[in-house]
Amino acid sequence: MMENLFKEEEAIVFTEKFAAFSKELAMRVYTSRLIGNNNNLVLHGGGNTSVKTKLKNIIGDEKDVLFIKGSGKDLSTIGPEGFVGLNLDPLLKLRHIESIPDSEMDNQLKIHRISSQSPDPSVETLLHAFLPHKYVDHTHADSILILTNQKHGEDIVKEALGLKIAVVPYTMSGLPLAKSVIEQYEKDPDIDAIVIINHGIFTFSESAGTSYENMIDYVSKAEAYIEEQIQNKPLMTPRTDFIPLKNFETSLIRTTQIIRGSCAHPDSAGRMRRFHVETRCAPDLKDTSLSKEAQDICRSGVLTPDHAIRTKNRIVYIESVPENDDELKKIINQAIETFKKDYHLYYQNYAQEKGIDVKEPGFYPLLFLVAGLGLIAFGVTREETCIAADIGEHTIRAKLRANALGEYLPISESHVFDMEFWSLQQKKLSRSNLPLEGQVAVITGGGGAIGFGIADRLI
Ligand SMILES: [Zn+2]
Repeated sequence: MMENLFKEEEAIVFTEKFAAFSKELAMRVYTSRLIGNNNNLVLHGGGNTSVKTKLKNIIGDEKDVLFIKGSGKDLSTIGPEGFVGLNLDPLLKLRHIESIPDSEMDNQLKIHRISSQSPDPSVETLLHAFLPHKYVDHTHADSILILTNQKHGEDIVKEALGLKIAVVPYTMSGLPLAKSVIEQYEKDPDIDAIVIINHGIFTFSESAGTSYENMIDYVSKAEAYIEEQIQNKPLMTPRTDFIPLKNFETSLIRTTQIIRGSCAHPDSAGRMRRFHVETRCAPDLKDTSLSKEAQDICRSGVLTPDHAIRTKNRIVYIESVPENDDELKKIINQAIETFKKDYHLYYQNYAQEKGIDVKEPGFYPLLFLVAGLGLIAFGVTREETCIAADIGEHTIRAKLRANALGEYLPISESHVFDMEFWSLQQKKLSRSNLPLEGQVAVITGGGGAIGFGIADRLI
């Protein structure tokens, strides 16, 4: 059961600490952090929150302003400066436009900011703008996605969450989703939450505390419903064909090194690029890696399309870890080659079909589930590696529960592609160009003057 952590005295501390800003924005920071610090609601840069307020501009005119999370900002650590202020009126007028090309949407989100120094606002800005409430909260909570990613997702969501919510079919983020949500809200203004199939949940209210409380209540209801439905059902069936590893630590090191080596590749400038690595070996992840369901869990797609830029749509399953290095290399190389081939086809087919001309992506996998070892995550930077690992852990656990509830049904690859290669999403990824990013450098005498100086130059 999720705990409501809102405390009046803590809220006062925030309004005092951020007294230079409006009280509404200080409250927005407070409940955004409460949401951001709960991994079952959002992970890292996921989710977004907003507040509508009035501000006087330089000539003394009072304007309605929307403050929304900057794109990719982390709700757990966000401060007032992490929110982007935008003039609300011109955003509301966009509702009457049929469609907006990505480049123009990017332009609109830039030109209506009240400060040219602000970061880019969240890709869900229009949805927050169109809803009339002062506070809007949005998460991709695992338990909500377990309910929506089912064959009869809409019925299950309604049964679990009750009558004061609306359910919207999956719609691409940006203007289409914003329009579909506001139309649904206007049909029934008594609702206090909207669930989007294969995407997540929005709550809203005139008060920061109530919008947060609604989020906690609905996610708790979803959790309680899932627990009641699956009760003592086994989440997986153990494989019987697996030969136990002789030494866990050695196997983990060997496997990680071989995978990392297999994915090392030259970039367009001919410089060798390697990935950062993060391993997650919790007992339930190891059990999953040794289950009959492992293959299926790895092949079925992401919980919400927002995750695709972080993890890609599929996980590579390494079904055995032989003692012989050559045998292990063969298994790993084959699994990586199959992934690359599939990903290349996915990219080519949809890019051609949709007439999209985007920069060729890296075809390497970012997540591996290895039999007997657990989850291995890759990333271009240390931060992106941890994000991929966290999302990977949550994805595996959510899929197990979704299958126990019914049958996990992910969104189509075509929709995943739209989100993964959406220019506004791709901007969230860091493109590290540091000469030693992802490499390991050993500097002897690193504590002394010359060694320290070398280390300093290298990073
Ligand atoms: Zn979202």
